[in-house]
Amino acid sequence: MPEQNQSTSSDTNKIKLDDASWKQKLDPEVYHIAREKGTERAFTGTYWNHFESGTYHCKACGNPLFKSDGKFESSCGWPSFFEPISEKSILYANDNTYGMQRTEVMCGKCDAHLGHVFDDGPPPTYKRYCINSVIIDFEKRSDTDSTQEHHAK
Ligand SMILES: [Zn+2]
Repeated sequence: MPEQNQSTSSDTNKIKLDDASWKQKLDPEVYHIAREKGTERAFTGTYWNHFESGTYHCKACGNPLFKSDGKFESSCGWPSFFEPISEKSILYANDNTYGMQRTEVMCGKCDAHLGHVFDDGPPPTYKRYCINSVIIDFEKRSDTDSTQEHHAK
């Protein structure tokens, strides 16, 4: 991937593909969530009850979206976060489908649908980012990120 040759931040490098290309690139269940704004069934995803330390990335493009530090235990059945990794990592849009007024959350890099954000989360943000497990990939915190876990022999 050419972006990796750049030492500067690639936050502004958007990924734009048409639906046919996404369909080739993504697994059907990922495509359904990311491009058709689907929703996985509650309590069926990989990460709703997952609390290891690390980072959650967009499964479509690898963009870092949330940290485990921003995740909280919610009874809703989907992975829930109170803050994204940065304001640039995600995009928001009004979603008035299904007779509800909700705020859709999308990947800031590839526009994949992630889930919705609600105003009933815990402090300090009081937000609840309700995200589909299918569209995120968890990366466990590595030794290089965590000096406390490094033991010299
Ligand atoms: Zn993405």
